Amino acid sequence: MDTFELLESEVRYYCRDFPTVFTKAIGCKLFDEQGREYLDFFSGAGTLNYGHNNPRLKRRLIEYLETDSITHSLDMATTVKREFLERFDSLILAPRKLRYKIQFCGPTGTNAVEAALKLARKATGRQNVVFFMNAYHGLSLGSLAATGNTSKRAGAGVPLHYTMPMPFDGDLGTDVNTLDYFEAFLQNPGSGMELPAAVIVETIQAEGGVKVASYEWLRRLEDLARRHGMVLIVDDIQVGCGRTGSFFSFEDAGIRPDMVCLSKAIGGFGLPMALLLIRPELDVWKPGEHTGTFRGNNLAFATASEALAYWEDEVFAASILKKSELMSRLLKEIAESHTEAQGWVRGRGLIQGLGFDVKGLAEEVARAAFERGLIIETSGTHSEVLKLLPPLTIDEEDLKDGIGRIGDSVKVALGRVGASCATVSPG
Ligand code: PMP
Repeated sequence: MDTFELLESEVRYYCRDFPTVFTKAIGCKLFDEQGREYLDFFSGAGTLNYGHNNPRLKRRLIEYLETDSITHSLDMATTVKREFLERFDSLILAPRKLRYKIQFCGPTGTNAVEAALKLARKATGRQNVVFFMNAYHGLSLGSLAATGNTSKRAGAGVPLHYTMPMPFDGDLGTDVNTLDYFEAFLQNPGSGMELPAAVIVETIQAEGGVKVASYEWLRRLEDLARRHGMVLIVDDIQVGCGRTGSFFSFEDAGIRPDMVCLSKAIGGFGLPMALLLIRPELDVWKPGEHTGTFRGNNLAFATASEALAYWEDEVFAASILKKSELMSRLLKEIAESHTEAQGWVRGRGLIQGLGFDVKGLAEEVARAAFERGLIIETSGTHSEVLKLLPPLTIDEEDLKDGIGRIGDSVKVALGRVGASCATVSPG
């Protein structure tokens, strides 16, 4: 690791939690330079939904490169971009009766969020955007203004303006519908709140601690947005592309967002790509108004088009749901068999959180898991939740193996943190 410490910026992050040098990856497994094998329950924070070096996607990429097809084209029209647009429309949008214009953004999630915020402000002529406590929408200034985390916000170096936080579903306890609170601000002429241009929401706050919004809450949020002329933006960057069992995380809630941000897994192979889906009436951009050099990653269009084959029938979605039931059952067993850990399980599809009220325990479990060859991240305000995010293509044996390693790690971690630890309130 010396080279990295010597030459790479202090900003480096995940390599501190997983201190080894990775060199190969296949499916749900990573290998380091010592030849040690790791199960990947992190998947590039939800980028590798179809696994590392998925053979089908890799074949398409190699063929694409070998035929001297276009790699870089700014946002000029290319054969493979047309293929992606047509397949995304016919396999994803049309069957769900969704009508969206598709904007290719700079290839990171935060750029799709920037585009959404700019366009919502332009389309409504309003300035403020409402976001939710513990939200994570990216770290460029516009997105950061809509991100809750205090230490990340502090990195801005300038005031973060024109956004306003509201409590997410469940943030004020089970007896309070937090949208009553939001609605009171909107309705009361004395609230001091200017009508927002938009409200941006994650259906599951992944970085925020795997906090799941109920379908009812999402439907009421949609209704609130419609009644007050706010653009409803769903940030599906981490939990879209099949993570929850359906292609979009909001499908089962029955809502129709005005804009949807997608990135991470949309490129299929782990290649950078980001999209903004826009209700056609809101597509009021002037040509080039949100431009950028890398808005046509043709290699990603090739692998993204191929990845959409997983959505040609119901088989893939059904397999995700089956595995998610197994995952939540096994996690609950872990929580129940270690009562002193004060654990709980929440999530949907193949994003599930195992949280602990014992302070510092989740981080200790993640460390012990790494020692046992499992890559897993924590999330939540106090890093109190282990976030399980395996590739959606993982088989049941590997899934059980990984969760078994979590169980072993809980035992070890409990010994390390000691029984007398303070508790944290779940975020
Ligand atoms: N939105 C959500 C919900 C995310 O999870 C992330 C990344 N963790 C982002 C936006 C930002 O994406 P990127 O890191 O690619 O800018």
